[in-house]
Parts: sequence; structure tokens; C-alpha cells
Amino acid sequence: MIRDLKYQSVTLANFEEFPQIQKLPERMRKDIRVVAQVLPFKSNSYCVNRLIDWTRIPHDPIFTLTFPHRDMLEPEAFDRIERLLDDNAAPEALKAAADEIRLSLNPHPAGQLQHNVPVHEEEPLEGMQHMYRETVLFFPSQGQTCHAYCTFCFRWAQFVGMEGLKFASREAQRLAEYLKARPYVSDVLFTGGDPMIMKTRMLKEYIDAILSVPSVKSIRIGTKAIQYWPQRFISDDDAQELLALFRSVRAAGKHLAVMSHFNHWIELSTPEAQAAVRAIQDTGAQIRTQSPLMKRINDSAKTWSKMWQMQVEAGMVPYYMFIARNTGARRFFEVPLVRAWDIFRDAYKQVSGLARTVRGPSMSALPGKVRIIGVSEVLGEKVFVLNFLQARNPDWVDRPFFAKYDEKASWLTELEPAFGEKKFFYADELRELLEDRSGWSPQASGDPDPVIPEEILAP
Ligand SMILES: *Cc1c(COP(=O)(O)O)cnc(C)c1O
Ligand code: SF4
Repeated sequence: MIRDLKYQSVTLANFEEFPQIQKLPERMRKDIRVVAQVLPFKSNSYCVNRLIDWTRIPHDPIFTLTFPHRDMLEPEAFDRIERLLDDNAAPEALKAAADEIRLSLNPHPAGQLQHNVPVHEEEPLEGMQHMYRETVLFFPSQGQTCHAYCTFCFRWAQFVGMEGLKFASREAQRLAEYLKARPYVSDVLFTGGDPMIMKTRMLKEYIDAILSVPSVKSIRIGTKAIQYWPQRFISDDDAQELLALFRSVRAAGKHLAVMSHFNHWIELSTPEAQAAVRAIQDTGAQIRTQSPLMKRINDSAKTWSKMWQMQVEAGMVPYYMFIARNTGARRFFEVPLVRAWDIFRDAYKQVSGLARTVRGPSMSALPGKVRIIGVSEVLGEKVFVLNFLQARNPDWVDRPFFAKYDEKASWLTELEPAFGEKKFFYADELRELLEDRSGWSPQASGDPDPVIPEEILAP
């Protein structure tokens, strides 16, 4: 049964007003108060009332996903903030300490700020990133927040309002111009925050601008609204308008893909989420699913196979399993690469081919999306076999390469080339590519004479 529920955010300012929270031990509530000074924290009435099983605290995955935990900070950092709170320190002192700790948490992993912001007609386009030839990422300025925040999220730096760290763009027309000048871009991916936080009429501005570019074939919207606020698609004031907007993409002969962030099958288990999925599908849009793998939330093969199975049953297409990025509270959620591969393989072998559209486990790293194919032994040396699912130079994609086996490594930067080699095959080219700031271009891809498929060039 779909229950009527008013949206209410749950934050540091009001979380202790909720009866479920009042039943938690004071130590836990205090931990939340301390950590929330540093890492952004936002849950909402739907998560609290419909998703979290309060009999399972502290082990409930959705609780862990949206509420801070003391181990998300290093003990020294935690103590420092706790002391400031206990001493009723001035807000400025608290903020200064919090900012300092945040800077130590790698707020912009994988060179997001320096390397991926394109330049068009000599002006940086701050609301965009263009790392792979076919796909431009767009961050609409009105979509820079979410219905709730994930505690692991690499976008956390955007939510805490640190100076100069926020991506934003009000310029739908600039986006369209940029795209028109680059006919090899077939996809625009709206991201955020969560673009579905925007009112429909705002989103429509952007979508309509993109529909005017013939060479763009697919519009993708990255969102966690099905999970955190399915009412967006079924009962919000402008839900029907939103669905009509989705239908208009299809009517214009383009593909609309909702890239839906699932962390756990629980998020698909409510009638509201199921109804949202059906409403989106009825517009002709496709839903593809992706999630990072995280300790304490979804680090078991059973959780993944069940999640993929349920997604396929609901007509969705499993797309990516990510390794959590090296930022924020990552250590709290960290899963070593070898274990990530184990979980992926173990889950993958339990599902039918319809769910094996999923790819992973994959790291969104500086050179591209690197997938762990597996662990193998070559000439007596134990190695990781890797390849690129996406790369700054498209020519790197799908070439197997090898790293020394390392049981503890949990990110690409912790790996070393195998067989005594000094660097990975892409290292020199990558250095050159990073010097260019014009966004992806044939010249900047490191391939002086790229073969661009004709169907991409011909609008
Ligand atoms: C993942 C990603 C994309 C999309 O890649 P696909 O493989 O086409 O899904 C585009 N840009 C960036 C920066 C990404 O990280
Ligand atoms: S919904 Fe997405 S963007 Fe928002 S906090 Fe979660 S992972 Fe980050």
C-alpha cells in the first residue's frame, strides 16, 4: 500500500525530534552530532519511516547509509571535534577545525576539479566535465543537493559549502553550444547532487536545450530519487509534468536513461519504489542501475545477486558495480580489491544472463574506469588482471593489463605494474593528456588521427 508521506529532511538540526532516534543510546546520538560537524548529513522522512528497520540498529544498511558513525572520522579528528563541542566552542572555531579535517579527506578524488572541466571559447565551463569522448557530464546548478546524503558519497565536498568547491552552471544554452561544436558527443549525463531534486520546469529548460542538438542521442539522469524519494515520480506536485517531460524525450526520437543508484535491495522493496519504477518505464525511459560496493552496507554476494535479480524482475538493467572512491569516510566502507572481485564473481555466477549486463568491479580513477577482471598467475607471478571500461584515450579501452597482486590494495593508486615494469602502459600519455584543459577532443585524446565512427559524426 502506498502511504502518503510528507517530505521532511532529517538533519543535525532536527534529528533528535524523531521518536526512532530518541530511542537510540545517548552515546550514539552524540557520535552523530560530532561527525555531522565535518561530514554532511541528511536523511529524510521516507528513509526514517519506510526504509530503515530500527530493530536492526546499528547494523541496518540504510541507517549506515544515511546516518554518521563515529568511525567515519579518524579518532584524533573525532576527539578534536568532540572536545570543541563539549567546551561550547565558538562556531568559527568549530568550522575552522571541520574545514581542516575535510581538506585531509581528499575532497576531490580522481582530479575532478583540475582535470575534467572543459574550456569552450577560452572560458571554463564550470558546470561540466568531459572526460570520455562520447559523454559530457552536466551539473545543473539547481541540482546540487540530494533528497538525502549518502555517508560514503564522493560529492560530500559539494554539500558542505567549502569555498570554490562547488560545481555549478546556469547555462543550458552554453551546454547546447558546447555540444553542437562537438558532434562526437552522443550522451549527456545529468548529475549532481541529484538532478531529480529540481522542479520539473527547471529540468525541462535543460532537456529542451539538449533536444535541440541533433548529434546527442541519449540523455541520462543520474539519480537516487527512486530510493530516497520515490514520490518524486508518483505524487509530488509536478510528478505528472515530469513524466510528460520524460515522454517528450522519447517523442523527439532520443533515448532517456535513468541511471539509478541502488545500494541495497531494501531500497526496491517498498510499494512506493515499485510504483516509481513502473511510472518511469511507462514513459519509454530505461532504468539502469549502479552502486558502489561498501563494507557494512552491501559487502556480500547474496545482497548483490538478490538486488540484481529484483532489478531485472522490475525491468531494470544492472549496469555498474563500483569500488567506493578514495574520499571522505572511505576507510569506514573500504573493501580490498581482491575481496571486491570475489563478491562480484560470486554474485554474478548466481544470476542469469539477463542480470549479467552489469560490469565491475570498477574504479573511477584518474585515467578512466578500471575494471578488475580477476586474479591470475602468469609465469609464476600472482597478478591482478585489469582493463579499462572507459578511458581518457578511447584506444586504451579493453586492453588487459597487469598489476602485482596485493591483498590489501583497495584503489588503483595502490597498485604496481607486474613483471618488474616501471609503469602502466598508459602512464606517459596520461601525463600529457592531463596538461590539456579543453575537455575531451580528438587532439587531446592522445590519438592524433582518431577514427571517429561515421555514425557519430553524422547527426
Ligand atoms: C562513468 C562516467 C561516464 C559514463 O561512462 P559510461 O561507460 O558511458 O557509462 C562519463 N563521464 C565520466 C566522468 C564518468 O565517470
Ligand atoms: S544520492 Fe548520490 S549524489 Fe546524493 S549523496 Fe547519495 S551518492 Fe551522493
